Amino acid sequence: MTPDLPPADAEARRAIAPVIAYPPQTLPQPDLAFQARARSAARKLGEVVVPPREGASFRVPAGGFFRITCTDGPQVGDLNLFNADNPQERFYSGKTRALHGTHLRVGQRLWSSFPALRPMATLFADTLAWYGTDPHGGRVHDVIGTRCDPYTHWLLSGGAQYHHCCHSNLTRALEGAGVPGAEGLVHDVLNVFMCTGFTPDTGQYFMKASPVRAGDYLEFFAEIPLLGVLSACPGGDCGAEHSSDAVACHPLLVEIWETPAVALAGWEPPAPNGYDRTHGRTTGGR
Ligand SMILES: [Zn+2]
Repeated sequence: MTPDLPPADAEARRAIAPVIAYPPQTLPQPDLAFQARARSAARKLGEVVVPPREGASFRVPAGGFFRITCTDGPQVGDLNLFNADNPQERFYSGKTRALHGTHLRVGQRLWSSFPALRPMATLFADTLAWYGTDPHGGRVHDVIGTRCDPYTHWLLSGGAQYHHCCHSNLTRALEGAGVPGAEGLVHDVLNVFMCTGFTPDTGQYFMKASPVRAGDYLEFFAEIPLLGVLSACPGGDCGAEHSSDAVACHPLLVEIWETPAVALAGWEPPAPNGYDRTHGRTTGGR
């Protein structure tokens, strides 16, 4: 074989049809009719405003709902979710991407980290569902980006110190919620309202100005008790740059509802994953 020259059957190899890596048909499905009934019975518990270029925390009881609203102007939010009773169990962006795709849609779920690997929340409503896929291949609400952070910014900017990246905002918000070791628990996010994709020629991650406008919202059903932290990204609508104070930035509103026990009758939070965690060992424990 000659390096750099394709083999004689190159086209045949390329022509092999892809298969979906994780067929979703066997995934446990949310009961959307039940969630709709619960939503109509739910009572508002409170709300939190996330200031521009800051983060804030909130708690949602199992079976409750939370809504993230763009209240003022186009603004992207970076969301982290934790099991409120055990912050080691947290949102697993990569597995959620593998199970559902690069951008989340209504009825899809946010899955938690190993070993629990269970639904943490179901995306219940989305006023940007109409956006679909734009001519550039962009879609909204991705689970491909990580979060803007001061370390990458330091690398790319020649050593600049910037303290209001989403990573830092989420870290401060989680510390404010009383969680020890907060920075080490901050994880890859759901990019709320962000419009992203991959360039078709080079496969590079791109962002473009979010189509979100004041009044748009995403709403979630809490499958387990949740501690959430949300950052109003310093990139604003993420149409130009992030990790700076240069662009217009707006607040986000988080509203929380609880569902009365009577409306949750017969429903249980999903159990943690049932794998026995022996990993093929013949002796020894975990
Ligand atoms: Zn950010």
